[in-house]
Amino acid sequence: MPPTSPIEGHPRVGLVIARLMVRGEDRGVRPFVVRINDGRVMSEGITCRVLPRRTGSKMVDHSITMFNHVHLPRSSLLGSIEPPSNDRQNFLSVISRISVGTLAISMAMIPILKRCAFVAGKYSLRRHIRGPTGSQIPIITFRTQQAPILHALASIAVFEAWATDCVQKFCDARLETPVRHGLATAFKAVLTKATQDTLYTWTERCGAQGLYEHNHIIESQLESRGISISEGDTLTLCIRKSRHRMLLQEKYKLPPPDHPESPLARHEASVFDECRTLLQKMEGGHRSPEFNRVILPRCHFLIESAGQRLAYEAALSANVSPILLAIYETGSIRQDSSWYLEKGGISREKQFEMEIQALDAGLPLLDQLLDQMDVEPYCTAPILSESLMEKFNDGLTTYGGVDMAMSGGISIAQSKL
Ligand SMILES: Cc1cc2nc3c(=O)[nH]c(=O)nc-3n(C[C@H](O)[C@H](O)[C@H](O)COP(=O)(O)OP(=O)(O)OC[C@H]3O[C@@H](n4cnc5c(N)ncnc54)[C@H](O)[C@@H]3O)c2cc1C
Repeated sequence: MPPTSPIEGHPRVGLVIARLMVRGEDRGVRPFVVRINDGRVMSEGITCRVLPRRTGSKMVDHSITMFNHVHLPRSSLLGSIEPPSNDRQNFLSVISRISVGTLAISMAMIPILKRCAFVAGKYSLRRHIRGPTGSQIPIITFRTQQAPILHALASIAVFEAWATDCVQKFCDARLETPVRHGLATAFKAVLTKATQDTLYTWTERCGAQGLYEHNHIIESQLESRGISISEGDTLTLCIRKSRHRMLLQEKYKLPPPDHPESPLARHEASVFDECRTLLQKMEGGHRSPEFNRVILPRCHFLIESAGQRLAYEAALSANVSPILLAIYETGSIRQDSSWYLEKGGISREKQFEMEIQALDAGLPLLDQLLDQMDVEPYCTAPILSESLMEKFNDGLTTYGGVDMAMSGGISIAQSKL
């Protein structure tokens, strides 16, 4: 799906992964730098078919690109022309750059979350409904509005700290390559899940207006789904890394927990042990149909459990507010409530109570946390204010009715469509 169509002023170059054949000998897949077009016409032998607009996304000319007898200079081959000593290692090395993309593209979910938190939060503060006594009540009064916003604000603070930590570790050449790739996968798994769950919820918590792309949330949700698939499909990455970790734990370890007794660290260790025990009993091991049936469905969740612990510890080291850390922890516990009940020694009622306490502590900070994200200049959502809403309504196709300008403008409740 790379965008490859000719666009005036934007000549395009691509990194094409193709099989290197030398006098009939297969020398494995290799990266080639290829001029795709000069901004006006496609290079000879290269065809581009532009795909339709991806639902909800901003316009990018995602394309199907085909190559037929394209002549390349020798210098376009990156690396040696000699046969690789190990085909699999060569392949893994060629595709290893994907994990740079895995980490980099996942970072985009932090500003996505910030912008949408701002919209959902400010709308919930602004939108009023009539209470039982006739007085106006802002919808932020309801815990069902507060909770998803506070959970996201806590996650944003935790993810920002983790992002810095993760980039540092990812660039640390002393760590084995599979460990660095494992960190990128864990980062992507956690951020993808958190972003998609959060935006899905907020769409509805903003009512019908959440369904309009003008208000950012549903559009960002669809954008984040694209992120989940591109630069390494999240689920497939998780399957690979879970398999790796279960089979090679002693060789390639993700950074061990600083606080092994914390609930998230105990959870991570236990769910991996659970799967390792299952694997040991499986005839045929990790390539067996049994592995497919029993372990594959748990892989995203396994990597996520490691990621949640890594994120929490990075935030703890970065001195993220204990109030936000507590909210993040209760949110993570809620995602595998049954483990914490069965093995973590935290009853269901206690789990509810922990979340209630954590959200109570965070609530007075909500408005201030929204403002501190400094994302208002990047938000154009009409539901943010009466004036933006009025402007939006003025631009709507109108048939019949009173002339609003003559009658003093729209004075109906602006939270309605
Ligand atoms: C926004 C966007 C931008 C993109 N940009 C580019 C680009 O610039 N260049 C480029 O080359 N590509 C690009 N892609 C393509 C992207 O790399 C692929 O879409 C991605 O690797 C998934 O492959 P697929 O679409 O063929 O899905 P499929 O492989 O058909 O996946 C479908 C399902 O099968 C599952 N699956 C696949 N393999 C396994 C497995 N081994 N085990 C278990 N389940 C499996 C997947 O998890 C998924 O659930 C882009 C994609 C998107 C969405």
